[in-house]
Amino acid sequence: MTKARFTSHVRNILRNNDGFYFSVSIINPAKRCFQFLNNYSYHYQLRMFPVNLFQESKQRSMSVNAATLQRHLGTYDEGHPGPLVILIGAMHGNELAGVKAIDLVMKMLQVEHVTKPDFLFKGRLIAFSGNLHAAREGMRFIDRDLNRLWNYEHLEKLRSGKISPTCAEDHELLELSEIIEQEIKTYTGNQIVLLDLHTTSAGGGIFVVPAEKDSSRVLALGLGAPVVDGLLQNLSNTCLQYFSTHFVEKNLDAVSFESGQHDDPASVYVAIAAIINLLRSVGCVEDHDVESRHDVILKKHSAGLPCYSTLVEKHSILPEDQFVMHPGYHNFQKVSRGEVLATDINGPITSPEDLMILMPLYQSKGNDGFFLIRPDERKGYFEEAD
Ligand SMILES: [Zn+2]
Repeated sequence: MTKARFTSHVRNILRNNDGFYFSVSIINPAKRCFQFLNNYSYHYQLRMFPVNLFQESKQRSMSVNAATLQRHLGTYDEGHPGPLVILIGAMHGNELAGVKAIDLVMKMLQVEHVTKPDFLFKGRLIAFSGNLHAAREGMRFIDRDLNRLWNYEHLEKLRSGKISPTCAEDHELLELSEIIEQEIKTYTGNQIVLLDLHTTSAGGGIFVVPAEKDSSRVLALGLGAPVVDGLLQNLSNTCLQYFSTHFVEKNLDAVSFESGQHDDPASVYVAIAAIINLLRSVGCVEDHDVESRHDVILKKHSAGLPCYSTLVEKHSILPEDQFVMHPGYHNFQKVSRGEVLATDINGPITSPEDLMILMPLYQSKGNDGFFLIRPDERKGYFEEAD
């Protein structure tokens, strides 16, 4: 109870799994007070902080659940020229950390003026949820992976009525693509950024995946988390590929961000940090308006991980393969040449070289068993945690 200090400027308070509370803010501690809270009782907090904001943010964070999830998660636009930033959460229905993070960031932005009248947001932030049907069922997808359906020809046929939707995700694709493209078409500025928020079934590290263009790689590096390049070359019809390829004239960059394990509460505030850093990178918010804690959070979760890696191999699977990942692997774990990583109907599956493993599959649904990456030694590693 006594170790935390506080100020009346703390706006958003979350409860983590341990029953502790912590606050999140985009404000700069050098300009206004910001304190990290821990071991604070619910009762005590209600007396010490703006009750209405606390209750509202608590209700809002609780309101983000699969049953009530909406397609449009929020818009923030003060009418000043600037980039169009499009956020997507729950592209996979069992990954809700992104939509929770989006909900809280929208709330944080809405109250920023309460304590900082000169806060300025340039551009437009708009957010959507991806696979609503799967989210309601608590599944990655219903029939097909929504993040493997973004094919231009397929979409055109669906839109023109030449083919009818054949799976639940065709309906999601039609609705989501329509609403995002409407935003892109009506935007008159000169920079569009799309951030697709995900989590992984294994823990062990966060990372950014850029679209296959240099400007998106630069954007990914600016987030302050490990970058894994080349993943998209081995995937087909992802949302990132679709938007970065078909809206070139709109100067659209796209990155996806993996904020941790599906059910880890930390994945929510890691995703918040990534969103805020992105808003800073593209100039929606000023550097001096951004709380340095967001960098600290990302650094902590990137500690010891390679700054930049490239894909060496993707292990695709089919249901009939009877693929079983060996237990205990996590993102960025080192694997040795010849090490047995998994088994399937044909026997053991081994690593071809000394590499690192990424996204080992520990859930029933998925097309990819695991990815193997090679760290770029010249680009170094994030500092180890103290
Ligand atoms: Zn995902």
